[in-house]
Amino acid sequence: MSAHARLSPSGAHRWMACPGSVVLEADYPDEGSVYADEGTAAHTLASWCLIDGLDADQYLGTVIEVGERKFTVTDDMAAHVQDYVKLVREYAEGGELMVEQRVPIGHLTGEEGAGGTADAIIIKPGELVVVDLKYGMGVKVMSEDNPQLLLYALGAHENFGLLGDFHAVTMVIHQPRLNHVAEWTIPLPTLLEFAENVRFSAGQVRLVSSLEDALDAFLIPGEKQCRFCKAKPTCPALRAEVADLVHDAATLDDFADLLPTAIDSQTGDNYLSVAMSKVGLVEQWCKAVRAEVERRLLAGQSVDGFKLVESKRGNRQWTDPAAAEKLLKSFRLRNDEMYDFKLISPTAAEKLFKSNPKRWEKVREHITQSEGKPSVAFATDRRQEIAVPSVADDFGGLFQTEN
Ligand code: SF4
Repeated sequence: MSAHARLSPSGAHRWMACPGSVVLEADYPDEGSVYADEGTAAHTLASWCLIDGLDADQYLGTVIEVGERKFTVTDDMAAHVQDYVKLVREYAEGGELMVEQRVPIGHLTGEEGAGGTADAIIIKPGELVVVDLKYGMGVKVMSEDNPQLLLYALGAHENFGLLGDFHAVTMVIHQPRLNHVAEWTIPLPTLLEFAENVRFSAGQVRLVSSLEDALDAFLIPGEKQCRFCKAKPTCPALRAEVADLVHDAATLDDFADLLPTAIDSQTGDNYLSVAMSKVGLVEQWCKAVRAEVERRLLAGQSVDGFKLVESKRGNRQWTDPAAAEKLLKSFRLRNDEMYDFKLISPTAAEKLFKSNPKRWEKVREHITQSEGKPSVAFATDRRQEIAVPSVADDFGGLFQTEN
């Protein structure tokens, strides 16, 4: 990316939804994290495999340096990366695979030389495929309407559009640690329409950058864009959103909405619905404020009314396990007194029998898994709704009058 590029594909979900975030985030240091660096290490391993035509376990024990940090390729990392490598190889059958491919986006964002690096681009007859590896274990990322992937696809089309008569674009996200694959295919004209949205949003960012007095009008809070925004702890728009919600709750007549008798009232239903739709955002704000106060105190800055203290101590560990074992043995303890033996988990067993499907089938018969507990989701969530009989249905019989 050019030295001045601020509008990256990975940040597009934020700057396209909240153009003012680009201005606010500029005041925050880019500190990175061990998780981000671990993801970079996994991407490095994946690219080695795909470029060299090797499997991930052939790099076991290799140390990958990312900035100051070092990551060793473990069984766990190799297994997850191998899942991704296998998926990419399947998509690449009958096509031409390009790995860690830099694609341009400056023609859309107006930032000269700007671009992004797509993990894998595959050119197939009539179709462009973009595959993105997400190594995180937090939230499942969907490919549908995903601005980052759409930007990679637009960049790929800009670079390779002349190589074929493309009529469709497929975007794939693979999160191997969540066992999650999301695929979305759209016709090429739909992709090209999205280019106009990018141009419009980039124009908004330019506008707010030149008119800082108008910043408030360009700050648009929302769960998706605020989630990883560095400005979250101090952002005035997010603060106002949270304050509005809490104020609304506090001024409702006698908190009637919180009383069971009010559940059927129009106000009650509406209040809970609105409040629930904001809970994720408020939780994000709370976490961000806590993290920023901790960051400032750890950096030696003062935050009025707060200080650092030692929290609960960690679990006790042997300083030298071999020496401790030798000492315990000298006390003539029995094995069952000295050691904890535990059966391996079904997940570990699955890995163990990966190359022996027959044995794995037999082992599977001994595995059970509890049903997921009911959990609240947006009505638009793709998962099937759990049908629960209404209270009226349950008690209907009790209230029936004899005729
Ligand atoms: S916290 Fe949310 S509203 Fe504020 S700048 Fe960031 S994305 Fe925009």
